[in-house]
Amino acid sequence: MSTSAIVIAGAGECGTRAAFALREHGYQGAVILIGEEPHFPYERPPLSKSPGAGPKTVADREKFQAAGIEFLSGVCVRTIDRAAREIGLGDGRTIPYHKLLLATGAAPKLFPGMEGARTFRALGDAQAVHGQLAPGRHLVVVGGGFIGLELAAAARIAGADVTVVEAADRLMPRIVPAEIAAIAEAEHRDKGVSLFLGTGVVSATERQVTLSDGRMVEGDLVVAGVGVAPNTALAEAAGLAVDNGIVVDGCFATSDPDIFAAGDCCSFPYRGRNVRLESWRAARDQADHAAAAILGAEELYAAVPWFWSDQYGLTLQVAGLPAPVARTTRRACGNGAFILFEQDADGVLVAASGIGTGNAVAKDIRLAEMLIGKGVPVEADALADPAVNLKKLLRGQE
Ligand SMILES: Cc1cc2nc3c(=O)[nH]c(=O)nc-3n(C[C@H](O)[C@H](O)[C@H](O)COP(=O)(O)OP(=O)(O)OC[C@H]3O[C@@H](n4cnc5c(N)ncnc54)[C@H](O)[C@@H]3O)c2cc1C
Repeated sequence: MSTSAIVIAGAGECGTRAAFALREHGYQGAVILIGEEPHFPYERPPLSKSPGAGPKTVADREKFQAAGIEFLSGVCVRTIDRAAREIGLGDGRTIPYHKLLLATGAAPKLFPGMEGARTFRALGDAQAVHGQLAPGRHLVVVGGGFIGLELAAAARIAGADVTVVEAADRLMPRIVPAEIAAIAEAEHRDKGVSLFLGTGVVSATERQVTLSDGRMVEGDLVVAGVGVAPNTALAEAAGLAVDNGIVVDGCFATSDPDIFAAGDCCSFPYRGRNVRLESWRAARDQADHAAAAILGAEELYAAVPWFWSDQYGLTLQVAGLPAPVARTTRRACGNGAFILFEQDADGVLVAASGIGTGNAVAKDIRLAEMLIGKGVPVEADALADPAVNLKKLLRGQE
């Protein structure tokens, strides 16, 4: 093993993409990618959308070999010795690094009393749950976030009965505006999902949930989808700054200039505040950016966040991040699809959320993303008017 390897801890979307990006940026030294999961890296988004499908591999043995990337699977990075510039593995080995990228992702949260519920993040979770998604089975999902709802949709499509319990009075409270959540709610009800909204969960076992109002819901499987927490223990133990994620600068450097962090595990600067995303595309974009930064690039990361979720035939997409919003404008996109644009007090577009079947909102969300990226005021009336091509607004900003 080279003494000057770039070592990457975490072989999810971000860590794996970063390893290949290093090569694409021309780096010819040793690259070592270390993942605690026993598989070749795979994509997580398909897990909740089609749990029965086989894994969608991000990179296999041939790809690693062709790129000259050393991939160590099934082994955890346990320690970072910053003075010696060396990491320690769970199997006792140590590996020296020249630069280290932490791409440790996030892990599902469970509230006290819910320890009996199954969490849903990894391939093994999808494989275990898949067998329960069949006619005559009853899936109980705790949490009306996007992963739980995608799983609910997959279960209904497979013919299982589904109950979703959400503490807030509406679905996806952290992700989309209420008007968009209402469309998803109607679709789930229409497809036969039993929804308990505004209902907390006191405890959950493998097959039973006790609600805050004393009622019990029984099923063949209870899955908790109540959010994730960033995997920061390794960074914290090494004395790196951590605050809702491993704190990084605009080049994804941590408080140690030889250690970088990216993806779901990091908290990065976005428009005057630090944010942490749980988004597939952000994991990839940040991997590309961090790889370039590790090799000396100094450009600051400025990508606009973008996220999607598929439930039944509906796709929802969100660009930007909700901020204090002065004005919300609705744009119809045909066939019931629509986008809500959120502008700040200066008329600057900060977020756009859309919902519709198939690709109905994709093009306009893409253009909205570019408008958000410009960070300049736009006319609300033009946003609202489906006859106005958003491209024209973009051109007006050039
Ligand atoms: C079921 C599901 C559906 C999703 N659907 C969507 C979607 O529709 N749209 C969207 O935008 N996003 C979606 N996401 C989110 C998206 O998949 C994540 O944002 C993305 O995977 C983050 O990539 P990451 O590499 O930062 O983290 P992860 O994918 O979590 O990868 C981190 C890896 O690091 C490993 N690791 C952690 N600590 C160590 C250590 N100390 N040593 C070695 N390895 C370690 C972990 O085991 C893991 O394999 C979904 C996520 C899930 C779980």
